[in-house]
Amino acid sequence: MLNISEIFCSIQGESTYTGLPCVFIRLAGCNLRCNYCDTTYSYKSEITLSINDIIAKVKEYDPVKLVEITGGEPLLQPEVFQLISSLHENGNTILLETNGSILLKNIPEYVIKIVDVKCPGSGEEDSFLLENLEFINQESDEIKFVLSDNFDYNWAKDFIMKYKLNDYEILFSPVSGKLEPQDLAKWIIEDKLPVRMQLQLHKIIWDKDKRGV
Ligand code: SF4
Repeated sequence: MLNISEIFCSIQGESTYTGLPCVFIRLAGCNLRCNYCDTTYSYKSEITLSINDIIAKVKEYDPVKLVEITGGEPLLQPEVFQLISSLHENGNTILLETNGSILLKNIPEYVIKIVDVKCPGSGEEDSFLLENLEFINQESDEIKFVLSDNFDYNWAKDFIMKYKLNDYEILFSPVSGKLEPQDLAKWIIEDKLPVRMQLQLHKIIWDKDKRGV
């Protein structure tokens, strides 16, 4: 059984899959407390579902085959590996959004990982497990930095240089209400930085505090 916060279908709002219809499976519980967290409601949930129940729910959204497992932090629940395998058997393309603090070693190759590196502005700067760099696939995975200010921007830039991540798919995302997208855009252009800037599309389409979108 998995402790679930919510399951819904919406438009993918982040990553290089932005804009595509996607089924989101949000698992409950998180080991971090980022100060800009917009899913604090996912820290606790009374809902528990079996893998079969979850797959049945996902099938309700056929023919949408893109599925994102997110949280909270989805890797805190060991049964997530069975979920991954069942979704794969069901023919789904699986995105896994994780906060970077849990070891990625045993995630199957077919899963597309979107891995956060928490910047100082999050209040969880030291949470990233450096060992995880070994398990991030340069061809298919994505590394995300959520930036609160110029200090975070320079910190992320230094991180990319230090760990030679230039050839990875790097996402830079401004914290909504804290960092103006225009400022981030200007810095990226000035530095000619090979990163992909992204805005949270779901917050532009829907009310920014709306759940289940
Ligand atoms: S890792 Fe994600 S879910 Fe957890 S506190 Fe940070 S932003 Fe919120």
